[in-house]
Amino acid sequence: MKTIGLIGGMSWQSTIPYYRLINEEIVRTLGGFHSAKIILWSVDFAEMEELQRTGQWEESGRQLTDVAQRLENAGAELLVIGTNTMHIVADQIEAGISIPLLHVADPTAAAILAAGARTVGLLGTRFTMEKEFYRRRLESHGLTVLTPEEKDRDEIHRVIYEELVLGRIEEDSRDTYRRIIGDLIAQGAQAIIFGCTEIGLLVSQSDSAVPVFDTTTIHAQAAARFGIKTADITLLPIG
Ligand code: GLU
Repeated sequence: MKTIGLIGGMSWQSTIPYYRLINEEIVRTLGGFHSAKIILWSVDFAEMEELQRTGQWEESGRQLTDVAQRLENAGAELLVIGTNTMHIVADQIEAGISIPLLHVADPTAAAILAAGARTVGLLGTRFTMEKEFYRRRLESHGLTVLTPEEKDRDEIHRVIYEELVLGRIEEDSRDTYRRIIGDLIAQGAQAIIFGCTEIGLLVSQSDSAVPVFDTTTIHAQAAARFGIKTADITLLPIG
């Protein structure tokens, strides 16, 4: 079994499900006493959030590359970044390591394509919904990406940073997310991407009339499968 290097803490609320989901997938496949070989480096999210808020992406990339190199030096054979947003610096990190990086959008797109959907509604931080890095990656797989209108993007983002990363789950926010998901479906979304690793803490499949694709689950399961098999990370079977 290969060793997974996981950069967590962005936020720690979603690193817990990553750890659980990777292990559950290993057990589901191998059974018995098996569990995942994981090296976890959990950052201080306050430092990362400040770099995001002040637009210091280059510096955040430098810091995360340093972490990735430490994981590689410690024996990690695959790098998993446990946040969608920080994939904004995925290319910078990838250039600094020699182990593969499992980009969160790739197994997510593969799962959506396998389910037969082509037009997706994307929920995430403002960075993920508005900057090109994430949309382009999904589009490179042949998907059409819809995002909520501006005031709804603001609200989705606010709930992530003021509630979910702090572990607060509010019923009003769940209603808002449900309404925004419904609006995306009305605009033609055939699937909804939970493109932020904390969104699955608030809403689930039961809040959407079309299939949801939770990046935390998909990313963690894909990492586990890489751990079990010697597989090309871009070709991992999903489901
Ligand atoms: N975990 C979130 C994501 O998947 C947001 C927190 C962060 O900025 O890393 O984008």
